Amino acid sequence: MILFDSHAHFPADTAAGHAAQIARARDAGLCGLLAVGGSEDIDAGALTLAKQYPGFVHLALGYDRDTATTVAGSPAALSAAMSRLRERITRLSDDGSPLCAIGEIGLDFSRNPDPAEKSAQTALFEAQLLLAAELDLPCSIHSRDADDETLRILSRSASKARLAETRMGVIHCFTGGTDFASALVALGLHIGISGIITFRNAAPLRGTVSTLPRDRLIVETDCPCLTPVPMRGKPNEPALIVHTAARLAEVLGIPAEEAALITTSNAMRLFGILK
Ligand SMILES: [Zn+2]
Repeated sequence: MILFDSHAHFPADTAAGHAAQIARARDAGLCGLLAVGGSEDIDAGALTLAKQYPGFVHLALGYDRDTATTVAGSPAALSAAMSRLRERITRLSDDGSPLCAIGEIGLDFSRNPDPAEKSAQTALFEAQLLLAAELDLPCSIHSRDADDETLRILSRSASKARLAETRMGVIHCFTGGTDFASALVALGLHIGISGIITFRNAAPLRGTVSTLPRDRLIVETDCPCLTPVPMRGKPNEPALIVHTAARLAEVLGIPAEEAALITTSNAMRLFGILK
C-alpha cells in the first residue's frame, strides 16, 4: 500500500521519538508526509524533520488561530508577521527545502472567542490566504465551529485560476456536514479525512464522505492527536494512517489499496510533490 499522511505535527516534547516514528511510517508503506507547523513549537519540529528526511517529510508553515491575538492584534503587527513569513519561505526555498503549503491556518470559534479575537483570527486567515495565492501555494486549513465564516472568506479569496487548478488547499480534519462539504468542493478545496472517520459515533461523517468526489479526498493523522480505532489510547503517529485509509475504503466501497492510491495521488497533486 502506498500512503501519504497529509497532516502531521511533531511537537518539541516528543522530539526524541520522531526518528522512530519516521522509520515506522516507512515500514507501514508511507511514501511521504506533510509536517505541518502553525506555532513556534510545531514549526521547529516540522523544519527539523523536513531537513533530515528530504523527499519524505514535506513542509507546511504558517500561523494558526492560537497565534492570532499576538500576530494579528493590529494591522501593523499583521503586516510585519506576513513579511516575516514571506522572507522565511523565500529563505527555505533558496536553501533547497521549499514549502509545499501554508498551514495550518484558519478559524476556531469552538471556545467562543471574544469579538476582538474573532476578528484577529479572521484577519490572519485572510492575510495568509492572500500570501498563498501570491506564492501559488495550497493551504492546510482548520475550521471548527466557523463553517459560515470559513466559506465567506474562502469564496472571497478564491481566484478563477486557482479554482480551476483545484490547488486552493484542504480543509483538514473535516467533520462538517454535506452542505459544508459540497460548498468547499465547489470552491476547489480538498477534504482531509482523519482518524475521526473510524470512530464509533462518526456515522454521519461517514455518510457525508461517501457522497464526496474521490479526486478531492486525502487522508491525514493530525498526530499526535486523533488516534484511529483500533489504536485508541495510544499517541497517534503517521504509521497509523493505514487504519484511517482502510476505514475510508470501506466507506467508499473500494479495496484498501485503491483508496490508498487515490488519496496519495490526490495529495501529491495538491501539494505539488513529484514522485
Ligand atoms: Zn493540525
